[in-house]
Amino acid sequence: MSIDRLSADDLISPGRADQALVTNESILNNALKNNQFALFYQPQINLPTGEVVGFEGLLRWRHPEYGVKLPDAFIATAEQTGQIAELTQLVIDTGFKFIEKLQPQLSFSLNVSSLCIRDDHLLHTLDSCCNEFHIDPHRVVLEFTEKATLENPQQAEDILGQLKTNGFRLGIDDAGTGYADMPDLGKMHFSELKIDKSLVTTMETSSKSRKSIISTIALAESLGIATIAEGIENNLEAIGLRELGCQFGQGYYFARPMDEADTLRWLENWNKRPSLLT
Ligand code: C2E
Ligand code: MG
Ligand code: MG
Ligand code: MG
Repeated sequence: MSIDRLSADDLISPGRADQALVTNESILNNALKNNQFALFYQPQINLPTGEVVGFEGLLRWRHPEYGVKLPDAFIATAEQTGQIAELTQLVIDTGFKFIEKLQPQLSFSLNVSSLCIRDDHLLHTLDSCCNEFHIDPHRVVLEFTEKATLENPQQAEDILGQLKTNGFRLGIDDAGTGYADMPDLGKMHFSELKIDKSLVTTMETSSKSRKSIISTIALAESLGIATIAEGIENNLEAIGLRELGCQFGQGYYFARPMDEADTLRWLENWNKRPSLLT
């Protein structure tokens, strides 16, 4: 085929591998059976002090042919097939086992699919894993997207209320991108608001993004809840967010999501590093 017969799509080669990667129930079952899912960890930093406060667990699929695949490649399918429940269980088991080894002031944030909010087992699973691994539930932050609270607000409020009563912290992920009626967040028992990376990435170039960040921080302050920014890639963003009053941050600037061994090495070295926040 001559070059002028190729469509624009044919020329975008990096997407090809992803397109060829088919996921369906039996492929995901196979991956689960063969322990191909791993939990990576990304540190979260107290922006004023530079201390590490915890880690977010992010799923990875170590695919034998395609290498490490990101959640984009499998979460939506797992939600459709119901296998998200098994993946969430895996995240809880792996993550709790991991933080049990860390200092008790470090927290563990996990992403909870909006489908799992309807799952009666979630609270039970979290409670029994806290017992099994001797984890104080207050160390666990459950991240929900705004969508989770929209489909059935009354049910969401009840379940979130129970989780909070049992000691878990609740966070709203990707804030500023959605449609949630933000003042409802207080009623929904959240203790943390995560500013989406799309706003962080454009905060230096778009006054709209900057204003969004400022109003999100003001809202959080008025509700007495913490703010954490995701997707911080440079010093300008880290310092800028701190100056706007954002308390916590995570992003490639501090560390990419890492496997368990790299996370432990990173943690050992973090305090020895010259501050990235000056
Ligand atoms: P999220 O919870 O908003 O996670 C943040 C995403 O931003 C992660 O992508 C992370 O790798 C990426 N990220 C962090 N810092 C930077 C940065 O400085 N620059 C850039 N460009 N990206 C950064 P990842 O790991 O691909 O995860 C994507 C999404 O998949 C997550 O978004 C979350 O919604 C979902 N996900 C990940 N793990 C799980 C899980 O265990 N369960 C569920 N239900 N969803 C998960
Ligand atoms: Mg998250
Ligand atoms: Mg997020
Ligand atoms: Mg995000």
